[in-house]
Amino acid sequence: MNSIQENLQNINKSIPEGVTLVAVSKTKPIADLMLAYDAGQRVFGENKIQEMVEKWEQMPKDIRWHMIGHVQTNKVKYMAPFVDLIHAVDSIKLLKEIDKQAKKHNRIINCLLQVKIAEEDSKFGLSNEETEILLASEEVNNLSNVHIQGLMGMATFTSNNQQIETEFEKIKTLFNQLKTKYPELKTLSIGMSGDYKTAIDTGSTMIRIGSSIFGTRN
Ligand SMILES: *Cc1c(COP(=O)(O)O)cnc(C)c1O
Repeated sequence: MNSIQENLQNINKSIPEGVTLVAVSKTKPIADLMLAYDAGQRVFGENKIQEMVEKWEQMPKDIRWHMIGHVQTNKVKYMAPFVDLIHAVDSIKLLKEIDKQAKKHNRIINCLLQVKIAEEDSKFGLSNEETEILLASEEVNNLSNVHIQGLMGMATFTSNNQQIETEFEKIKTLFNQLKTKYPELKTLSIGMSGDYKTAIDTGSTMIRIGSSIFGTRN
């Protein structure tokens, strides 16, 4: 067994049922992705649309491709034919474009709303209040070809585990609150290589792991 398959096996052993593992393959060559594929992995995450399209074209068609990076409105069209889940939706404008492009392909595209939880001044993500406003908006509810199925968050990049826990708790509390009103919210995408165990303890249902599977990136 090669190291990618070994890493995958170890991670899969350590995550509970009901938690989806997204193998984050950004910057990695297709040969590496195929090792993971051959070990049974079917969900892959990329953060650049162009790179995801190229990999989609060349790889088996039963892979579910997740866009985990920031999305520019004018690039939605390139992934609309195949993307399975878009993690980092943070505006109504983007949702409307996803809806428009999904319609052209007669598809419903699944989305997560990115919520800002990190202390550091990140450009992306909605506040709790903005998330609530977006979900309640009639404009959003009238979109027939997008399905908002949960929330996504990124904790501060720090070795302070307490801080990471606090930030994950924050999004988990919001997730639980919103679920009482919107039962279709079922995915909480939190947790990366460095913090996925904490994320799972907090209630993550989807972890996004790159370097712990494929090795460090340049
Ligand atoms: C790169 C990336 C990951 C994976 O990071 P690792 O630390 O390599 O596991 C997860 N989520 C997002 C949004 C990323 O951009």
